[in-house]
Amino acid sequence: MDSSRFLSASVTELKPSGIRKFFDLAASMEGVISLGVGEPDFVTSWSVREACILSLEKGHTAYSANAGLMELREEISFYLDRKFHVNYEAEREILVTVGASQALDLALRTIINPGDEVIIPEPCFVAYGPLVKLAGGIPVYVSSNSNNGFKTLPGQIEKAITQNTKAVLICSPSNPTGSMLSRKDFEKISNIIKQHDLLAISDEIYAELSYDEEFTSLASLEGMRERTITISGFSKGFAMTGWRLGFAAAPAPLLQAMLKIHQYSMMCAPTMSQHAALEALRNGEEDVQRMKTDYRRRRNYFVRSLNEAGFPCQTPGGAFYAFPSIEYSGLSSEEFAEQLLLEEKVAVVPGIVFGSSGEGFVRCSYASSLSQLEEALKRMASFMKRRQHAGAQWKTLQDF
Ligand code: PLP
Repeated sequence: MDSSRFLSASVTELKPSGIRKFFDLAASMEGVISLGVGEPDFVTSWSVREACILSLEKGHTAYSANAGLMELREEISFYLDRKFHVNYEAEREILVTVGASQALDLALRTIINPGDEVIIPEPCFVAYGPLVKLAGGIPVYVSSNSNNGFKTLPGQIEKAITQNTKAVLICSPSNPTGSMLSRKDFEKISNIIKQHDLLAISDEIYAELSYDEEFTSLASLEGMRERTITISGFSKGFAMTGWRLGFAAAPAPLLQAMLKIHQYSMMCAPTMSQHAALEALRNGEEDVQRMKTDYRRRRNYFVRSLNEAGFPCQTPGGAFYAFPSIEYSGLSSEEFAEQLLLEEKVAVVPGIVFGSSGEGFVRCSYASSLSQLEEALKRMASFMKRRQHAGAQWKTLQDF
């Protein structure tokens, strides 16, 4: 019997993530250096792990309140105020979720009516479009320009607005490009959002990993708090991907509506992870800063070396991704990623999976040890040299 006839139309339409395909291929090979994964290479701080162990020893194995432990929501509220200058009331405006992923899903399902459009600057995180579609909406992608470091262009957003536009989904620092919007950039975008009376969903999962300038939280801009759903979590800055813990913060009417879906579909986030997150927020700052300093060092080394090896790459302001051009290889981003993996055993992600303006680029995560990065760069450089000999129009560094 063909059970696929039971599938819903929206799921049948969904394409599997382009990232998975390369992970699966890489996992079947030996000696692969993976620059493909989007997660820290640090193990979660010991004190955070210990807090979880202690909570289990104490027998904290039951459900928490639907919205999350009150203590944790209070701590998140202090944290957002202390670090990003945004005020949210712990009781009614903060929701603890299963990763930022669930917070995004809830936000979109809460606001979208069938046919509503959500504007998404791309290249972007692979989940955005599918989540909008699963919620019954239409993702409207706007492209960004590699010449300005893939910063979202306010004019592009404005051009994409129609009478069906409901929201704009912004991510800074960005996955996959690492680009960061300044306060000025955000001001321009928020003026458009206010003028057209739209909602903003601000994915701030990489907020802790901004290297050159202070991070701006969209809700901290004048008139934006009331029309922003802020999404964040512990996965990246606190190196806690496997704990599956994130949160959303929004004005009570929006947040309480998200909570309605959450209480029926999830009940609550894992209680032991919530106890761990409490410790991360109370005593984790030093470790976050230590990891950030390390990423910054790797970024500087990695981006400089990419440029030297024939991969023009702007310096990303945040996250742990570099997004170099592969133009001089003469290959498409998918061909490049596949051939690099097969010939040199280095896994990167083709830029096209993040949107059409990602074509001609690949995403490399530098959340790997310096020695791994060094070896990966050696292999990438020799791959590029061979392509040059194969006739690709490769230029030297002086030409960039
Ligand atoms: N948002 C962005 C931009 C991401 O890159 C990721 C993970 O890669 C997520 C959200 C999901 O994070 P979480 O692990 O908290 O679900």
